[in-house]
Amino acid sequence: PAYCTLPISRLRDRLTPPLWKLLQKASRQAEKRGWHLYLVGGAVRDLLLADRQKQVLLEDIDLVVDGFHKSADVGAGVELAKALQTIYAGGRLEVHGQFQTAALLWHKNPDLGSLWIDIATARTEFYPYPAANPEVEASSIRQDLYRRDFTINALAMRLTNPRVGELLDFFGGLLDLQSQQIRVLHANSFIEDPTRIYRAVRFAVRLGFEIEPQTESYIRYAIASGIYEQIQGKNGRAPALETRLKSELKYILQAPYWKPALQLLANLEALRCIHPSLELDENLWWQVRLFDRCLQKFDPQKTLEHWQMRLEVLIAYLAPEFRGKVANNLQLSADSIERLQNLDKAETNITKTLSALELKSEIVQLMRQYNLPTLILIAVKTSRPIRQKIWRYLTEWNYIKTPLNGNDLKALGYKPGKQFKEILDTLLTATLDGKIDNRESAEAFIAEHFPLT
Ligand code: ATP
Repeated sequence: PAYCTLPISRLRDRLTPPLWKLLQKASRQAEKRGWHLYLVGGAVRDLLLADRQKQVLLEDIDLVVDGFHKSADVGAGVELAKALQTIYAGGRLEVHGQFQTAALLWHKNPDLGSLWIDIATARTEFYPYPAANPEVEASSIRQDLYRRDFTINALAMRLTNPRVGELLDFFGGLLDLQSQQIRVLHANSFIEDPTRIYRAVRFAVRLGFEIEPQTESYIRYAIASGIYEQIQGKNGRAPALETRLKSELKYILQAPYWKPALQLLANLEALRCIHPSLELDENLWWQVRLFDRCLQKFDPQKTLEHWQMRLEVLIAYLAPEFRGKVANNLQLSADSIERLQNLDKAETNITKTLSALELKSEIVQLMRQYNLPTLILIAVKTSRPIRQKIWRYLTEWNYIKTPLNGNDLKALGYKPGKQFKEILDTLLTATLDGKIDNRESAEAFIAEHFPLT
């Protein structure tokens, strides 16, 4: 392994003071028990990449504690999390696995803000060893790091004495940070966990790094060997994998860099993990971009889940019979699954019916049966004349108002009740079809069609 020691002030200067204080407290707790504590994963990567003197905002940090706990029921990580919870009141503790990992969460804590700390226990053997045995210790943290995805995410920084600030780099992560490479730790990495393909793309695009050529060939090999079938549950269901694929897709599709990431995924043929027949050809790429412009225009407040809508465009490109199943596998929201299941029916209905309609009011009536997401999903994949009608409905016709409203009707002597809606609907139809365009013509129109008795 390569060890290098960073001055601990470098860590201090790049963390917010409350987080620095928390890590110090955690280290003291670990030292008191004779344990080693490490900062690992993305936090180390981001701290090393950050410009000098620039603080890194960390809301999600990973710690690994290497230590033996006398009770076989409680891992050292869990005990450390409990100790921290006592010091910082109000944190929520979650324990995962039998006794290995703990998560400690604070939401809008006055001191810490929103913070999520995962604390894993490195040691899997439950017997004590002399704390001063560096060889055993190295093999223990190494084992933990070896389970990780990329060299740049497999660096550990020691937070406890002695040798506080020591950076443990077993796999060449520092060099890869410098040469900007995403590299896996071993050849089987993607076969073991295909979601790492999506993670490789995410880190490559986000950090502006390159997927190291050998790693890229492992990705291509994993895809060519049909690894995606694992995700689609063909080799027995693997729901955990689907959940993780969904969360990686979410990460990517909600990020500002989602377009180049999608292109890179397509280039690696990794979209097959969504469905074996999914390819980002020119037509789909065009649809995806047009759809995004529609989302910006019609939903600037982001009331819809844009990442999920982007995924829906990809799924909608599949043959109709696959859409519902893919959406289901990925555990999309119920309305999203339903939309994709019914999209073909909606598209056929709109396409067929529209060609027979001439009056604007009839078109509006047809469109009103569908919500905005359905209409824009159809608009991007349908023919140009239909797209133009959907567009005009969404931009103009849907907003046309009648010259008279309910209050005006009351003032004219109509009694609120069932007939009101009928009058207003008839007025809207007449307005849309250009039969009336101002108050006078509207009043004349209702006097003729709904005479007051
Ligand atoms: P981000 O800044 O995007 O949160 P991160 O590196 O912190 O990046 P997480 O998804 O929070 O990413 O994961 C934390 C750490 O856990 C990673 O740095 C990596 O070491 C490890 N990890 C996460 N997912 C995997 C995986 N699928 N396979 C192996 N290791 C993983």
